[in-house]
Amino acid sequence: MESILNYINGELRPSVSGQWLDNVDPSCGAVYSRIVASASEDVSAAVAAAEQAFPAWSALKAEARAACLNRMADLMEAKMEALAADESRDSGKPLALARRMDIPRAIDNFRFFAAAATQFSAESHYTSPELFNYTLRQPLGVVGCISPWNLPLYLFTWKIAPALAAGCCVVAKPSEITPMTAFRLAQIAQEAGLPPGVLNIIHGTGPDAGSAIVSHPRIKAISFTGGTKTGAGIAAVAAPMFKKLSLELGGKNPTVIFDDADFDLALSTAVRASFTNQGQICLCGSRILVEASIYPKFRDAFVARVQQLKVGNPQHADTDIGALVGKAHFEKVLQYIELAKQEGGKLLCGGNAAQPVPGGYYLNPTVIEGLPQQCRTNMEEIFGPVVTLQSFRDETEALELANATEYGLAAGVWTSNVNRAHRFAHRLQMGIVWVNCWLERDLRTPFGGVKSSGVGREGGWEAMRFFTEPKNVGVKIVLNPE
Ligand code: NAD
Repeated sequence: MESILNYINGELRPSVSGQWLDNVDPSCGAVYSRIVASASEDVSAAVAAAEQAFPAWSALKAEARAACLNRMADLMEAKMEALAADESRDSGKPLALARRMDIPRAIDNFRFFAAAATQFSAESHYTSPELFNYTLRQPLGVVGCISPWNLPLYLFTWKIAPALAAGCCVVAKPSEITPMTAFRLAQIAQEAGLPPGVLNIIHGTGPDAGSAIVSHPRIKAISFTGGTKTGAGIAAVAAPMFKKLSLELGGKNPTVIFDDADFDLALSTAVRASFTNQGQICLCGSRILVEASIYPKFRDAFVARVQQLKVGNPQHADTDIGALVGKAHFEKVLQYIELAKQEGGKLLCGGNAAQPVPGGYYLNPTVIEGLPQQCRTNMEEIFGPVVTLQSFRDETEALELANATEYGLAAGVWTSNVNRAHRFAHRLQMGIVWVNCWLERDLRTPFGGVKSSGVGREGGWEAMRFFTEPKNVGVKIVLNPE
């Protein structure tokens, strides 16, 4: 059985404690590898290695750092097929999706921020003939990156790449539920010749390894993606230590469909937005709000499409919906389906487990109607293949429903009325709005949410700014020397 080791100071090592965790293949429920269970001693060793590497790494010319990141990207590209297979096995997602989305995006993250490293520059401000200011952007030092299980390598590299590009050294922890591709990234870093200590990868649980990163006094910033409750706990520890924080948290995203929308495109995109990656993407639209005049037509067409989705073995090319990530999450989603029934929801399809592979954690895609906005099913994040349908009378009610939860990550708006599209986008309390599309990502755009969906933004210059400290230098010039 393969052992997933920490990557500290350029070496692959077991944890100091000698403890291990099981790693499960959710497509069949079998343990297939083991993970080091790290704690504060391992994190301290990683921080020491990162601190030692920092002076040389941060002093490298941007082009040299970019070359390291591009080497990592080249190796990932060469191993694309193996990485996709690892990602699929570790998380239960369809292999085709890992090939099409997760791994290409992880490679793009490295290439994008390699380019950003060479384009990011200090700003200068001409104040008067006698005074000018310039603002240095200096790398923070050692930073912590903690990521979730839903898009494992995709989100892990989304943090690591800008941190390295900015000149920081990194102590990173992937989710203990999906550690495999982070381990592969460590092996790739070794092969790419990344200087020891620049990137350190620690494996283990949140309470043991994650909290040791968050509370380590010499880690200057925490970039975290995960649940809102976990994020609140991290903020409570990190804020009094005055650490810089970027928190990308949960969502309960609305897809709002007006009666003047391109019906067929809205329909097919709403199906994708609901069920891609088994509904386990923070950007999935889990509340579909449809204008009353087209509600019955949309509902019937939507349910018919969803019933055609194939729940199957993640390895099979015709699988649309793979396994949920693990037993605990599978049970949580099933409990939410029970709750929806108790709250008076009507199941239009799904609602039960499927068993394309014995022992795996599969759920049929589930569509529910008849629930008011103010119920737990429509207010809490479920993060699985479960969506609700609600109808609205007019734009005012649509906006009220869309903004009604504590979350504010993303929304989809479907209309052919250009004024309404902009007006509605303006009024949505969200970090991201997609008009007549979904998940169209441009890595330069600010990524993140408002309200309980997080604090701060990732992507483009936002990420480069996060991992650097601005320092203003004001220079007075003597214009008339004696
Ligand atoms: P989680 O909060 O349970 O775990 C996320 C990471 O934090 C894991 O690596 C975990 O080990 C670690 N962790 C847990 N407790 C910790 C602690 N006390 N201190 C430090 N680290 C700790 O989240 P999850 O279940 O892995 O992921 C699902 C959640 O992530 C969903 O809520 C989803 O919406 C959210 N998410 C958000 C975005 C976004 O960009 N906003 C993207 C993807 C996922």
